[in-house]
Amino acid sequence: MTSAEIKKLARSLGADAVGIGNIERWEGAPLQMDPRQIMPEARSVVAMAFRVMRGSLRGVEEGTFFSNYSAMGYGGITYLYMPMTVINLSKAIEDEGCEAVPMGHQSDWRAIDGIGRLRRDYSRPVRPGQAAPDVMIQLRIASFLCGLGEIGYSKMLLTPQFGPRQRVGIVITDMELEPDPLYPDTDGPKLCDRCMACVRECPAGAISRTQTVRVNLAGHWLEWGEIDCDACDIAFRGGLAADGPVTGAAEYNPPMYGKSITQAPWTPFHKKPRNLYNTGQAVCGARGCTRACMINLEGRGVLENRFRQPFRRRPPWQVDWSQPVALPEGVPMAGRGGPASSATHPDAKEAD
Ligand code: SF4
Ligand code: SF4
Repeated sequence: MTSAEIKKLARSLGADAVGIGNIERWEGAPLQMDPRQIMPEARSVVAMAFRVMRGSLRGVEEGTFFSNYSAMGYGGITYLYMPMTVINLSKAIEDEGCEAVPMGHQSDWRAIDGIGRLRRDYSRPVRPGQAAPDVMIQLRIASFLCGLGEIGYSKMLLTPQFGPRQRVGIVITDMELEPDPLYPDTDGPKLCDRCMACVRECPAGAISRTQTVRVNLAGHWLEWGEIDCDACDIAFRGGLAADGPVTGAAEYNPPMYGKSITQAPWTPFHKKPRNLYNTGQAVCGARGCTRACMINLEGRGVLENRFRQPFRRRPPWQVDWSQPVALPEGVPMAGRGGPASSATHPDAKEAD
């Protein structure tokens, strides 16, 4: 198969953008993140972007419907839609006699934490000199090395089609394929303009304005803001790390990273809703790294996926948990003190 045929097939199977990188571009990659640790004879990586519908972020932006982004824009793409594409593309490659590793999921079994440290007492290399299982392929870095786009200051992959609005799957193969140029070497528009909207609007303050990380990837120096992964993890679930113990109504989640978690202005939920499609728990609605960034990129007219109306149509909302709650009028309250809504509305009986 040629690169053109691989791309055509991947698109027909559901990918929105496809890029190919030769394995030499991973030269110098950290041991725990090197695709050659998975397939020593790998020759190429195919990276595919799967767009998050802008409409999946609409309900979060309006503050009325959070599950759609978590389900259809996050977990559903990662654990339902993307696997079908990478598996079927891998089948086509294996029909040609080459091996293909379909990676349409995140590295949930990875041996390293969010900042590259080995997890204590977790796993051990099976041979001297090898990585401890599981290796974690950094999908955003792989996307850059396959020419799909830039890495923004937020460390998000930015593509010329969708900006920060996609998830990524890859196929690692021993098939020799013609690589795509890296995005900075094309005549595509510069995407990240260091507007710092991601820094300003990230509810966790997880993207540092001053501390940066510089890496050289395939001859290109890249720099992004240092990410506080723990802070992101907490805010992502709608929580706010508290200085001291939290009890009663303000308690939001069980403690995480040794911190008590309280209700935050970026969630209207009293407790974190349950996960969807194995992961979907993006209660923060990617307010900084995705929504704010997308608004900047769309406003500058640098994205190919265009819309008739701007994304932000009303001032951003915040919940003030110190104020008394103003519930919707005319909607009965379930549980103690009133008839359950399931008794009054036939649709409410639908299985949840
Ligand atoms: S919000 Fe601005 S600074 Fe941040 S990644 Fe997007 S374009 Fe770059
Ligand atoms: S997911 Fe949310 S908390 Fe994490 S960096 Fe993006 S905006 Fe910040």
